[in-house]
Parts: sequence; C-alpha cells; structure tokens
Amino acid sequence: MPIDTRTLLNGLRSAALRDQLEVHYQPIILLRTGRLMGYEALLRWSHPTEGMISPDIFIPFAEQHHMMFEITKILFEKVLTEQAHWNHSVQTMISLNISPSSLPEDDLSTLLEPLTSTDTINRKQVILEITETAIFENPVSSGALIHRLKSEGFTFALDDFGTGYSSLTNLRDLPFRELKIDKSFIQNLDEQHSNDHILIDAILSIAHAFGAIVVAEGIETKKNLLQLKSMNCYAGQGFLFAKPMPASDIEGWYEQWPVQWRQLAHQASHAMI
Ligand code: C2E
Ligand code: CA
Repeated sequence: MPIDTRTLLNGLRSAALRDQLEVHYQPIILLRTGRLMGYEALLRWSHPTEGMISPDIFIPFAEQHHMMFEITKILFEKVLTEQAHWNHSVQTMISLNISPSSLPEDDLSTLLEPLTSTDTINRKQVILEITETAIFENPVSSGALIHRLKSEGFTFALDDFGTGYSSLTNLRDLPFRELKIDKSFIQNLDEQHSNDHILIDAILSIAHAFGAIVVAEGIETKKNLLQLKSMNCYAGQGFLFAKPMPASDIEGWYEQWPVQWRQLAHQASHAMI
C-alpha cells in the first residue's frame, strides 16, 4: 500500500528523523582501470512502521514541503561523521545530491561550511550533483549558485543527463566537471534494437569537447561494462560493481574489489556482444 501524505509529513517533521535517516554509499569506478573514483552518498529512510522508504518518494515530498534544509543538514552531518571513521585508503571523492530550488544559495553555503572545513573532507573532494530538471526549473538561481560555489572550490556534476530538458547550453554556460548519463540509457543498451549506443556516443563526444568527464549510472551487466569501456566512457556505477551500502560495509567491499574487478574485466572481455 502506498504510504500516505500524513505519515510522510509527520515522520519528516518528527524529532526521530535524525536517527531514522541513513546514508548509503555507492562506489564509482574508473572503467579503464577499475580504480575507485569515489562514492555517491544516497539517503535512505528507515521508517519504524513503514520500513525502508525510497528517496524517490520522500525527497520530492520533502522538497515540496520545504524540508530539504533539515534533511540535507542531517545528510552532511552523517557523511562527515562516517567518513571520519573510514580508513584513509577508501577515502576519495564524495558525491552529494543537492536540490538547489529548495535550498537557497545562503542555506547551502551554511550547510557546506562545516562539512568541508574539517581535516576529514576538503572541498576538492566534494562533487555536488544537480539534476538537469532542477536547473531547468530555476536556471538563474541555479547558475549563480554553481558559479559561486565553483569559485569557492567545489566541483559540480550534471545529474540524470538525458532524462530532463537536456539543454546543451548547461554544458556551455555552467562549469560542470562531470556529466552523469541516466541509467535508463545504460539499461537500454542491452536491448537488441536499441539506438541508445548512438546517443551515448554523441553524449560522450559533446562532454569531452567541453572538457567534462562522463559517469554512466546503472551498469548492471558485463555487456554494459564492455560496451561503455569500448566507447571510452570514463567512469561508472551500478549494481554490477556494488549496490549502495552502509558505511560499515565499505572497507570490506574495498578489500575484495581488486579480485572482483579482475573477474569482471576477464568475463566482460569474453562476453558476447
Ligand atoms: P540518482 O541521483 O539518479 O541516484 C542514482 C540512483 O540509481 C540511486 O537510487 C541508486 O541506488 C540507483 N542505482 C545505482 N546503480 C543502479 C543499477 O545498476 N540499477 C538500478 N536499477 N539502479 C541503480 P536511489 O538511492 O533509490 O536514489 C533515488 C534518487 O533519490 C537519486 O537518484 C536522487 O535523485 C535522490 N536522492 C537520493 N539521496 C538524495 C539526497 O541526499 N539529496 C537529494 N536531493 N536527492 C537524493
Ligand atoms: Ca545523483
């Protein structure tokens, strides 16, 4: 049964929210070498009666009800606390999803300050992911925010590329270091008559021309991996490598990763295309 509005609203406003929100981390991998590029931090809401509620449900709701300041604050605090406990070898880049329309410029700066003024994380390690749709809804304020925070040392990724109002002017006018191809394109690559490889090739060329790197989301099969590698896609994330996991699982995953990658690379090179 879908969760009702009142339950969502009461839950998000409850004092217990801080304990119920969890951050899961999904590794992002360099496709040529298998090296770890970083992690995307993804929120989870472990509700006492409703079970695990997907961010796809509660984030849009929180945006609508002006609760993103509190939620993003909890996210940043948790990321900071959890990263402080990670072994240095697993500490790399950390990608955070932000909703600029529901987080005014000053609020976001206030939230980012404690996250990046510690010994644990510096701002060069933080990639802020903004969806195309968010930029489309609020082009002027999103643009100003991106330019200002870029000048303060933050890096930006254009998220869910291809699903929204894919405007190439975003790549021309805004300083994105990274472009993330939405998983719907990657998953279609496996379809026999899909033309998505043509689109992905074109996206890669355009991104490279603008000096941006491309991260493919939703890599689920060895065939996807081989296709993306052969197209020179820089990095990727997906269930083939790892599902998003709690901070406590990261070190264990990282230890076994070289073996997993060798097997994947070997099997992918023998996969039928
Ligand atoms: P997103 O930013 O596009 O994040 C990627 C989503 O794809 C994640 O879903 C991830 O679990 C999923 N994914 C990754 N690899 C695969 C794969 O191989 N197969 C499939 N089927 N899915 C894969 P998730 O964690 O459910 O998050 C959904 C959306 O919620 C995110 O989409 C993002 O837009 C939003 N979100 C999550 N955390 C936050 C947050 O802290 N702040 C904001 N503003 N939004 C967030
Ligand atoms: Ca994202």
